[in-house]
Amino acid sequence: MEKLILSEDEIVRICDRLGKEIDKKLDELNNGIPVFVAVMNGALPFFYELIKHIHHKIEIDTIKVSSYDGTGSTGKVTVSKQPDHNLRGRTVVLVEDIIDTGTTMHYMKEYMKKTYGMKDLLVTILIKRNNIHMKYDEQADFTGLTTDEQRYIVGFGFDYYGLLRNEPYVYVPSTKDIDEMNALISDDKALGHSDITKEH
Ligand code: 5GP
Repeated sequence: MEKLILSEDEIVRICDRLGKEIDKKLDELNNGIPVFVAVMNGALPFFYELIKHIHHKIEIDTIKVSSYDGTGSTGKVTVSKQPDHNLRGRTVVLVEDIIDTGTTMHYMKEYMKKTYGMKDLLVTILIKRNNIHMKYDEQADFTGLTTDEQRYIVGFGFDYYGLLRNEPYVYVPSTKDIDEMNALISDDKALGHSDITKEH
């Protein structure tokens, strides 16, 4: 590991704070049962921790979008898995891992607003990066951590070619970490397994 960004304890503390903020907002909106929608796959660990700190009765769902090819932004966003709920008239809490250049959030919000007819859309993210190459100034309604760190991060949902999502904390990987992952990936390919670099 090159640098720790969020420890396990910090993640729990952040989710506790966000849970209180979101509960308060849901009280104000007073629109029945909200639907929490996780953006797969990156937000899944964060989503699971966050909803433990929500005291409202909620329903959960998932959406899948792709904007990244490996570690570089393609700037292209596609929705490849729709939520199962009918979101018309509902309060939706969208849970995403990070706003980086803002591209994914920009297109996803636009898409959801024009497609689902929700009453309210509340965006919750674990990390907001103050990206020096920001493309869309997208802000979340609820943010865990704001960072100036420009390096690629992994762990707790953040992947390196589909790997490291199951690490319990968020960190900047060292060159040695990356070399190890590259070796694992090429060993896996040698076994004839399908190309895990295609996972998002
Ligand atoms: P944006 O469209 O805001 O540039 O990027 C959003 C998506 O890119 C996130 O949902 C996440 O999947 C991916 N992403 C952005 N920065 C990082 C990073 O540092 N590490 C990882 N693993 N994924 C990132």
